[in-house]
Amino acid sequence: MPMTIALTVHIRRDAKVVTFPFTEYFQGFEHIEAVQRLFGAQTEEVLQQLRIELRSGRGYMGVSSEDGHLRINAQYLNTGRFIDLYLDIIHELVHVRQFLDGQELRDPHYTYVDRPTEIEAFQYTVAEARRLGLTEPQILEYLRTEHMSDEQFQRLTRAVKIL
Ligand SMILES: [Zn+2]
Repeated sequence: MPMTIALTVHIRRDAKVVTFPFTEYFQGFEHIEAVQRLFGAQTEEVLQQLRIELRSGRGYMGVSSEDGHLRINAQYLNTGRFIDLYLDIIHELVHVRQFLDGQELRDPHYTYVDRPTEIEAFQYTVAEARRLGLTEPQILEYLRTEHMSDEQFQRLTRAVKIL
């Protein structure tokens, strides 16, 4: 459609996504062995430079496949269970490491529960949950989200070796 109407409005077109330092919301993760194993000597530097975007709407957390920043649902951060948030951060930090390694986080050849980057993140997180003493039923409860069908959930639990 040709633009024939002369508009006298101005639209500013230099919007940036607002992000905050990870360490403004998450403290002490540099002391967690599971985190240190991901980033080694760079642990503090990675966490210092990591940015988080607080979002509205639905969902939990994710890592941008463009620049590796963390996306977090603000309501989930404020009201979610502490242990869920902790384990989700471990999961997402695996993705941050994968991103820094140059891995493709959104490989469309795989569905979510079969994607190698997800399997690694889930396996890593389940190991941390076991270290903390969570029971297998508690871990299953943590892993179960409305995003997965029963069949996908079974594939995931097989992949992370929960029977
Ligand atoms: Zn993931």
